[in-house]
Amino acid sequence: MQRSLGVHRVLEPVGVLPQAAQRLDADPAVGPDEMRIAVRRLNLDAASYRQLSEAHGGDGEAVRAAVLGIVGSRGKMHNPVTGSGGMLIGVVDEVGPDSPLGLEPGQRVATLVSLTLTPLRITDGLARWDGRSEQVPATGTAVLFARSIAAVLPDDLPEEVALAVLDVCGAPAATERVVHRSGHRPSVAVLGAAGKSGCLSLAAARDARAGRLVGVVRDEREATALRAARLADEVVVADATDPLAVAAAVGEPVDVTVVCVDVPGAEHGAVLATADGGTVVFFSMATSFSAAALGAEGMAADVTMLVGNGYTPGHAALAMDLYRRSPGVRSLIDPRVRA
Ligand code: NAP
Repeated sequence: MQRSLGVHRVLEPVGVLPQAAQRLDADPAVGPDEMRIAVRRLNLDAASYRQLSEAHGGDGEAVRAAVLGIVGSRGKMHNPVTGSGGMLIGVVDEVGPDSPLGLEPGQRVATLVSLTLTPLRITDGLARWDGRSEQVPATGTAVLFARSIAAVLPDDLPEEVALAVLDVCGAPAATERVVHRSGHRPSVAVLGAAGKSGCLSLAAARDARAGRLVGVVRDEREATALRAARLADEVVVADATDPLAVAAAVGEPVDVTVVCVDVPGAEHGAVLATADGGTVVFFSMATSFSAAALGAEGMAADVTMLVGNGYTPGHAALAMDLYRRSPGVRSLIDPRVRA
């Protein structure tokens, strides 16, 4: 059990699981139940990349040095400020004889477990990255444990697109599940609706036969793009960190709110926009547990609050399917990948 979870790779503090570790052993030599990936590209999660970029005033060289510093000292890409990571793609390099993951050397895969628990070594100094994008061309090695997940990359999509979609595939899966559990045609609002996880969540909500669908976006530019994508019944502009503005923009409180922004401070607006008895899904990694819990208490808001688990069975296939089937989703994700 301990081995399958990667506990043997934890250097400090001893006794915790790899996600909570300060430092992992990223030795590329694999144990019998492990698997090594030759890394091709990292995808830093949006909250982590934004934090690093803002902390270094947009200086790409400094961001690159910061990422190298984190991976070098922690043996994993675990942003100490946001606590978040991302995921990676690469080619299966070596599979231990007891690995249960069913993968073979030579297969192109995306890891579906967070970089915050993936032993990682970078060997090219990230020389091909200018520090100005969430996606990071990289050479190095990553190790997956027995109890990890990886998806074989589809042949029909560019790697960059697959990486972007798979990074946030937990959001549409969580949205679908909550809509199904919320009675007859629940109304849904998505904060950050023109972003990657946001537009996939809107598409998933519509597929799950949600009722009124509200997309909350940051500005008129995003509103125009989201209206053209035809994923929401209503598109409204509000700063997600301004609770009263969010509540006013959403209007009649909704049954389900999904938080997909990449900035801190969206907890109170999300709670205010949600009807009593409703559910808020906090997918954003910039969410504060205390702000959500104490804020809801302070508003006497009877809402169920869910942490957006990055894993739901079938989440990768669901997200890729939504991307392939929905021109609106593609119209919002493709420009972000190109940028
Ligand atoms: P994304 O594509 O960058 O989308 C975020 C959206 O939020 C963008 O449209 C952004 O607008 C918008 N936004 C930012 N600040 C806003 C504000 N103050 N008011 C309204 N809208 C605002 O990000 P993503 O890749 O979908 O990721 C979204 C979140 O999910 C991040 O926090 C990420 O860390 C998290 N995440 C969670 C998991 C999990 O397992 N739970 C996994 C992966 C990612 P602009 O583009 O104009 O800034």
